[in-house]
Amino acid sequence: MIFTKKKLLLYSGLGLVALASGCSLFHHQKTMVQPHGAVAFDPAKRREDSLKRTMTLKPYTEIITKGTKTQTGFFTVHQKDTKYYFEIPNNILNREILVVSRVSKASSDMRNGSSGYAGDEIGESIYRFEKGPANKLFLRRMSYAEYNKDSTATLFAGVQKNNITAIVAAFPILALKKDSSASVVDVTDFLNSDNDVIYFQRKIFKDKAGMGAQQNDKSYIDYIRPFEHNVEIHSVKTYSAGLNPTNSSYTVELNASMVLLPLKPMKARLEDERVGYFTTSFKDFDADPQGVKRTAFIERWKLEPKPEDVEKYKRGELVEPKKQIVFYIDPVTPKKWVPYLIQGVNDWQKAFEGAGFKNAIIAKEAPTKDQDSTWSIDDASHSAIIYRPSSVANAMGPNVSDPRSGEIIESHIFWYHNVMSLLQRWYMIQAGAVDPRARKPEFDDELMGNLIRFVSSHEVGHTLGLRHNFGSSSTVPVEKLRDKAWVEQHGHTPSIMDYARFNYVAQPEDNISEQGLFPRIGDYDRWAIKWGYTWHPAYKTPEDEHKAMVNVVTDSLKHNHRLWFGSESEYADPRSQNEDLGDDAMKAGAYGIKNLKRIMPQLESWVTVPGETPEKLFNAYSAVWDQYALYLGHVTKNVAGVYHTPKVNGEVGATYETVPYAVQKNAVKFLNDQVFTTPMWLYNERLAKKFNVNLGYEFGNIQQENINALITRARLSRLLTQQQETTTRTYTITDLLSDLDHGIFAEIYAGKNVDFYRRNMQKYYVYRLLVQAFLENEMNTIMPEVYHFTVTDVNAILRDELKKQQALFKREARNPALNKITRLHLNEIDELIQRRFTAEKNGLTVK
Ligand SMILES: [Zn+2]
Repeated sequence: MIFTKKKLLLYSGLGLVALASGCSLFHHQKTMVQPHGAVAFDPAKRREDSLKRTMTLKPYTEIITKGTKTQTGFFTVHQKDTKYYFEIPNNILNREILVVSRVSKASSDMRNGSSGYAGDEIGESIYRFEKGPANKLFLRRMSYAEYNKDSTATLFAGVQKNNITAIVAAFPILALKKDSSASVVDVTDFLNSDNDVIYFQRKIFKDKAGMGAQQNDKSYIDYIRPFEHNVEIHSVKTYSAGLNPTNSSYTVELNASMVLLPLKPMKARLEDERVGYFTTSFKDFDADPQGVKRTAFIERWKLEPKPEDVEKYKRGELVEPKKQIVFYIDPVTPKKWVPYLIQGVNDWQKAFEGAGFKNAIIAKEAPTKDQDSTWSIDDASHSAIIYRPSSVANAMGPNVSDPRSGEIIESHIFWYHNVMSLLQRWYMIQAGAVDPRARKPEFDDELMGNLIRFVSSHEVGHTLGLRHNFGSSSTVPVEKLRDKAWVEQHGHTPSIMDYARFNYVAQPEDNISEQGLFPRIGDYDRWAIKWGYTWHPAYKTPEDEHKAMVNVVTDSLKHNHRLWFGSESEYADPRSQNEDLGDDAMKAGAYGIKNLKRIMPQLESWVTVPGETPEKLFNAYSAVWDQYALYLGHVTKNVAGVYHTPKVNGEVGATYETVPYAVQKNAVKFLNDQVFTTPMWLYNERLAKKFNVNLGYEFGNIQQENINALITRARLSRLLTQQQETTTRTYTITDLLSDLDHGIFAEIYAGKNVDFYRRNMQKYYVYRLLVQAFLENEMNTIMPEVYHFTVTDVNAILRDELKKQQALFKREARNPALNKITRLHLNEIDELIQRRFTAEKNGLTVK
């Protein structure tokens, strides 16, 4: 048909050039960027090529025959028997399509820690359909690691040239729609193959699940459902067993969502380090005209007022957003927990009111099959809380976002059934001394429901873009945690994104209710949501907006310390820790231990179920030990600690500050009192005998752990640096060793006998110092910016300390007032040191 031919020639100019130049892909790309005038046209060849092309293209009706099942979404999907065709409209070409793949139904043989479950994400990338030469439709995988905003940028051509992205699939175009507005391709082989576009994107996912090659005869496409903004591809796949030999093969169901990203990306919001958001970042060749900058956009949902509400919004009236954030609850969730999970989501509504939006976020029960047969929990056009029947005790809140803008497209929260055992354990050990409801082997539904509600809020916080704020709880004075009126009004931490669990500082006599014991969405969270979600149409670019908002953050922080954000990756800042509370780890820990001492003798009566094995009691007993160890860890981080407060230029105060002398000294005193003085309160004979607990061994472990944590190269080196580079009095290595000596060797200084547990600890302490003082270092290790192994005073200071100890041991070994075993012990640790010095002198190695 002449008409068709003409149409074809008109519309596929680039393809024609490609054919004329020999058809190889490489050639073609080169030709494409040449201006039209540069390509030599041969009219005879052109006719020949057009003929060839007409022959390869079939009439639409020949491919899409009667009886073909056709479904329309942002592209059309045809199914004829076992064959599948995609009909890609021209207006979808070169549009960004986000492909998110998940395990929809898992096999019990593929578990691997917290993965290997329904809902696991196995791929997430952005693709584009584009026309290639020789009537081909390509699928190209995009990369956003390096980026130019637009083609007008100076370095655009350069960045493009160095970031050619991979063509991951090529489909011959079989037919065109009558008006040439769309191309039809056969995708049957592509869908049936084990490709990395819509199934397992990286081999590691399959390896983790113990999967080998796909078995084609046992794999098929279950359904494809196209929608306005997404197409869902659901398949059943069987794989041979890979690394996991428990089964010969696994059948799983996979779901791939192809989500059409907006033509125009949302206006991005630039990161401010002082507000904890997840970000999407790239090397930016525009931001700095004389360099390359890492630009980071925060991840957030697109919230805007409806057009008719814009004026109201600007006047400060609360309006509903154009598009609500909706979370669906997995239909397999036990019914009694559904209201609490929903409440945990809806609790964020108040926070969004600070950003000018009402009902911005809501949770709903998923529709049943009768209500909507096309609804699927895997569909990437909606977000969901997925319930996993699993022994893993955890919950996770990941999201999927547009790398061009940080816009969150969808989120699937995973809720592992056994998270309840974790909640039960935490609440009993941390709040059992004050809340009688926690003194049971199984909590009442209402209490467990409220615990679930708090975890639901925390996980939803992540899906709104919020990171952990481990520093938040450090803004609260410890004594306020015992002030009933205050703590019930403000909560024990300003952020639910902290890992602040429950108020373990509260004492029974404080009479604090659940309001003051449970974490909840607090001042910091509301402020962070206001900062991230307030709509600012006045600023045309993210940069303009950022300039104005930087000052708002500076100002807020100056006036309200409670808004402080402390990252979870601060290795030396004692304010940013998980599971800690208050502004003073020593005070908080002492209150915590006071409560543990109350709990220990009662545990047996709380959790014993007649006729059952004492497993619950054992778990509770070891939970007390674990909780105690946590308090010690919180304190240790103060020694050689550095406060890190990220600041912008112009903001007052130091970014890095050494933890004050008095605080560090107090931390070591705490450890001397609470762990190096044998914590005999942990000795509960009834329980110890029930579970065959060897206390000598257990005390040894916990004391050794704390000695090891204190005496590390990094910590000692930091103390040395702090001493040199801080003008005020700092806590030094000598202070640390002197304080430890006076704690750990207290009886020896006092001329008294040493008991069994303490003798063991003293031996270990000497051993640890020897290890550090005589550590072989053939590699001449240098930890960049932390320490130099050989060029340091640490070794000499430690050796000097050991010699001082020797003098003390020698003297007291002759003390006739001491019993025999103490004197033997003193000789032993003296010789332990001596042997090491002598060996070195003689060039021997002592193991
Ligand atoms: Zn978290």
